[in-house]
Amino acid sequence: MKSNALSQNTILLIEDEENIRSFIATTLKNQGYKITCASAGEEGLHLAASLCPDLILLDLGLPDLDGLDVIKRLREWTAVPVIVISARTNEHEKARALDCGGDDYITKPFGTVELLARIRTSLRHSRQMQDLSSIHQKPYHYKNLTVNFEDHAVTLNGNLIHLTQIEYKLLTLLARNSGKVLTYTFLMEKIWGPYTDSNNQILRVNMANIRRKIEENPAAPEYVFTEIGIGYRMAEGDI
Ligand code: CA
Repeated sequence: MKSNALSQNTILLIEDEENIRSFIATTLKNQGYKITCASAGEEGLHLAASLCPDLILLDLGLPDLDGLDVIKRLREWTAVPVIVISARTNEHEKARALDCGGDDYITKPFGTVELLARIRTSLRHSRQMQDLSSIHQKPYHYKNLTVNFEDHAVTLNGNLIHLTQIEYKLLTLLARNSGKVLTYTFLMEKIWGPYTDSNNQILRVNMANIRRKIEENPAAPEYVFTEIGIGYRMAEGDI
């Protein structure tokens, strides 16, 4: 089934493994995306500059360039969303890719549903970034939780939740980026500043406090998920 809303989007896939490349290309074509493929980093960078795609899917293990360097070179001139394709075991590499300017990652092996969800989320964020006013005004809403950025109010089942200033800053940062994983490093720098201790303990304590306040069962969260070794992801809000 083709979706009209998506049919205008062009995606550049940079991946050297042919079977993964053809799986992704077929999947995305069937969804109405326009897709162009590159099998190496330099070729991908050239195509990114000539095509100006709406989104890039980037394998980190390329024959000619380190995927992290591809992200850094892209970020010199474009804010195009980049979703990293990474091997299962390397959390450290995924976190570094996000800190270098990657927007999200997908872990091999992945299914069609997950791939399409990640792409939709990244494209939505990219559109929102082009309309900054909407990010600041529109409340986050998912299940029983509402974060109203204008009123500085967080409600659960209609009841006001009392958060400390740090907890509120953390939760709104996650809510504004809902659906996207935010790394420990990113969150630490945004909340406590660039010269903060690299120890994540203060972040974990604050996240535990937030969960006690908003999650019915903090051990099985509905709103804020832990991405082990990487960071946190808030459930994508209703649009
Ligand atoms: Ca590879």
